Amino acid sequence: MSWKISPKIADILDKGGDCGGISRYEALSLMRLDLHSKETYALMETADRISRHQFKGKGENHYHIGINVEACPFNCSFCSLTVKAGIFKDKIEFSDDEILRWARFAESGGADALNLMTTGTYSFERLLETGRMLRNEVATPLVANTRDINHKEGERLLDAGFVGAYHAVRLGEGMDTPFTGEKRTRTISVFSDVGLQWMNCVEPVGPEHDTEEIVDLMVLARKHRATYSGVMRRINFPGSPMEKHGMISELEMARMVAVSRLVMGDVPKAHCTHEPHSASLLAGANLFFPEVGASPRDGKTDTGKGRGVGLEQCRQIQSEMGWDPDLPSNCFEHEGNRVQKIAN
Ligand code: SF4
Repeated sequence: MSWKISPKIADILDKGGDCGGISRYEALSLMRLDLHSKETYALMETADRISRHQFKGKGENHYHIGINVEACPFNCSFCSLTVKAGIFKDKIEFSDDEILRWARFAESGGADALNLMTTGTYSFERLLETGRMLRNEVATPLVANTRDINHKEGERLLDAGFVGAYHAVRLGEGMDTPFTGEKRTRTISVFSDVGLQWMNCVEPVGPEHDTEEIVDLMVLARKHRATYSGVMRRINFPGSPMEKHGMISELEMARMVAVSRLVMGDVPKAHCTHEPHSASLLAGANLFFPEVGASPRDGKTDTGKGRGVGLEQCRQIQSEMGWDPDLPSNCFEHEGNRVQKIAN
């Protein structure tokens, strides 16, 4: 039995292992590897090695708080929070007290960021108010996950205490969503123009997605210098119109996490995967999203009581895989509201 891997793949992995990034063509070659081949395990080993070195062993946890539940008229096919899915009929805004309770829990449990998610038509003013409220109460950096925005709105997010924003050009954009990749990319440029960090994930990956489309989004993340950009698979909520496609496995996701890690090279401060699982922590990922509140993957109002994985469990999985969640975060260029909180 030979222990050697194909010389062509070995060359790509050598290049990726130097952290300079790999080309679109090279990434496509890696995406097409047989899942159980030696080459795939060598790929994951390379991605794991550079992440452990570059992220200094840190396990990151960015705590997702979905601050409202509402049947969204944009009807993205993969989302449970839509008019079409018919799961949620009533509008629910989690109260400031509830959001603050979650935020304090996350802070005391060692979360590295709070990601505040809204549905597509949620009031931007209310999101700003929530940011201002949290900025004065917790020191954990705030990240907004909301609709497309312009420069003025980007500046207002900064003023309200947000240091970054999660935003993704979705797979199937324009077909599974009513949005365009161009509009999303304009918003991503707004972030860098106004000084908000851009957080990204290649998502929501399903078996029906073409490898070229997936790799193009990895390359986009490198080009726009995402703070992090790993891979999230699509979760089919009960009754989802995407059920006919099935879902990719955690192992398939780990292979993509590894490819995206090599594409990102020395750009990222962390590498995410969702939902939390062990395999990708051996393939270059170090960042999880524990979840409470609304979730586009859940039929429950509070995903903390549904399929959302809690902070303690995320930390436990990371510790088991040799990532230390208690080390300082590598993600934030500025201390954000940590500084403002101390000054208050
Ligand atoms: S993903 Fe966002 S914009 Fe699309 S339907 Fe769900 S909440 Fe609305």
